[in-house]
This record gives sequence, structure tokens and C-alpha cells, in this order.
Amino acid sequence: MTAPEFLPFTRPSIDEATIAGVAEVLRSGWITTGPMVRDFENALSQCFGGRLVRSLNSGTAALEIGLRIAGVGPGHEVITTPLSWVATSNVILSVGARPVFVDVDPVTHNIDLERIEAAITPATRALMPVFLAGLPVDMERLYTIANKHHLRVVEDAAQAFGSRWQGQRIGAIGDLVAFSFQANKNLTCAEGGALVLAAEPEALLCEKYRLQGVTRSADGEMECDVLGGKSNLTDVAARIALGQLPSLEAVIERRKALARRYFSLWDRSLDCQMPVEDFANSNWHMFQVVLPERVKRPQFIARMREAGIGIGVHYPPIHLFALYRNLGFREGQFPHAERIGRQIASLPLFPAMADSDVDRVCAAASKAFS
Ligand SMILES: *Cc1c(COP(=O)(O)O)cnc(C)c1O
Repeated sequence: MTAPEFLPFTRPSIDEATIAGVAEVLRSGWITTGPMVRDFENALSQCFGGRLVRSLNSGTAALEIGLRIAGVGPGHEVITTPLSWVATSNVILSVGARPVFVDVDPVTHNIDLERIEAAITPATRALMPVFLAGLPVDMERLYTIANKHHLRVVEDAAQAFGSRWQGQRIGAIGDLVAFSFQANKNLTCAEGGALVLAAEPEALLCEKYRLQGVTRSADGEMECDVLGGKSNLTDVAARIALGQLPSLEAVIERRKALARRYFSLWDRSLDCQMPVEDFANSNWHMFQVVLPERVKRPQFIARMREAGIGIGVHYPPIHLFALYRNLGFREGQFPHAERIGRQIASLPLFPAMADSDVDRVCAAASKAFS
């Protein structure tokens, strides 16, 4: 008997037409930022109801530039969640500001909106919510708080491409919205990102920040009046992303079908906390369960690996990393994030998975627990 193929927790789907399209770009003589990037930005803008969008070479760059555009710098505070990829708060440090963590809601795993107002100080400039696994927060409540306190919002929508809030796409509403197109994300171009912007001057500022702060006037004269970096997207990457856009809704439907299968087949006697059953808003970027305290996660992961199944960890709480401990954060400050971060496990979920793969994961989990 041959062992079944290893099932990773995620895997990108790039079709042959996209691969051929990339080869065409490579042969075209223009491989960096050019016509493909413009096409991609226009397509994204259409996705987001005509809003301004600029592409970048990572979600991290989108978040950092979003903060700069929001005017966040030294002496300022940004309120965010400790349960995210470390990029979320690293960018706050990168612009010289201080992350202020607010514990997560134990059910949604997203920042607890009830606790935000207590964390606002005169130094607070922005809120940076994360839509973990593609599940948005209550956007109405978020923006009620932001508007009341005159705060900008930089949404970390890295995992929420294609997610919705009351029928509208994440990105089509809101203030500054950052997406990632890293290899594990719902839409990918290997590495890439995008920022949705509120106004034309801010889009121009984004263009400066992404390429050395340089602009060219109509007669070709160069000027550099702000310190920009180097985070423009390439045409090669944009072509990969363009190839995936048409199947976005089909991909999300497939993810939903797989998620529904997990809900129906997962053994509830294992006492795992299941994700919020939201099939209206979430894009089902991940399917995460929180293991009961009696189960040691490293052991569970090892047993699943022996069964040929990859389990992801998203994420260890940010404030417990050495960089953040050295800034004064410590264990016990955000108990929900700490418990969830210790016990959360991402089950395999990607569009090319078969229904039978879900059956296999569920059966293997029951065995791993016993
Ligand atoms: C992936 C991710 C990022 C960073 O995106 P990159 O494209 O890898 O820079 C930021 N925040 C969250 C929540 C992410 O999942």
C-alpha cells in the first residue's frame, strides 16, 4: 500500500494560462513595474467599487505605507491585536510608533471592539484591526469608535481578500485597507500587496513612498521630497495575480464548501472550539480549531504529520516574542490571545483539496486525540 500524498495546510493554485501569461511577460522585455501592474491596479479598483488602489511588493509594505499616510510616527500609538502575524505590529515599530495591544474576542479571535475605547490615549493616532482567517470585525462598530475619537483606521485585511461586510467587499468600504498576496493568501502573486486609499493626494503619496519618494513632472523633471523606500510590484508578479482574479469567487465558494464539510465531519466529542460559522462575510482563508487544554499542540501536530497531514500555527501571540518582551510586554496581559495562540491549529484548507481530504483530516484528528 502506498502512503497517501502529504496534505499541506495550504497550497497555491496557479493555472496553465497564468503560467503561459507569465512566460509572455518574461519574454516581453519589460518585467518590472509596467502595464501589468497598471492592469492589476485597475482590476483591483473595480473589485473595490472604483476606490483608489496602489499595488506594492508585500502586505507589510502596504501596512507600513498605510501608517505613514495616516501620519503615524514617533510618539504616536496604534491600537492593534496581539493575535496576528508579527508583521502587523512590526510595521508600527518601523514607523517609530508604539503598538498598544487589546486582547481578542474569545469567539471571533479578532480584536475585542468592546475594549478599544479604554486603550485610547491622547497619543493614539490609528486603529489597526486584523481580520483573522478572513473573518471581518463588526465594521460599523469599528468605524463608530474611530470617528468618535478622530482616528484613522489601517485595516490589516491581509487575509481578507474577497471577504465581505453586509454584502460589500472588504476594501470597498473603510479608510486605508491593506492586502497581502503572499503565497499562502487567498489570491497570490508569490509576494505582493495592495493598499486601498481614501483620496487622490494619498494615492500620490503612496506612489512616492513605494519608490524612493521620487516623482516626475510632465516634462520629465525628477523631484524627491519625501523619504520613500522600494516596494513597487513587478509586472511578473502582477501577471500571476491577474491570472487568479477571475476565479476569486469560485475559490471562495470552494473554500466554503470545504469549511462546511469540516463542520459536518469534525468529531465534536474532541471538545475543540470551532470557528465562527460565518458563510456570509468570511472568505474562509483558514479553518482553525482551538484544541482543548488537555491536548498538547506540538504532540497533535506531530501525530498529524505522521498521518501525512500538515497543520499550521497562526499565530503565537506577538507580545510574547523577545522583541516585544524587551519593550516591556509580558505574559498574562492578554489572556485570551495567549490561550488561543497556544492551542490554535489551522487545518488544511485550499481550493485544490478534495472532499475526501477533509474526511482524512477529520479521521486522523480523532485518532491523534486518542
Ligand atoms: C500575511 C500577513 C501580513 C503580511 O503580508 P506580507 O505580504 O507577508 O508582507 C500581515 N498581516 C497578516 C494578518 C498576514 O496574514
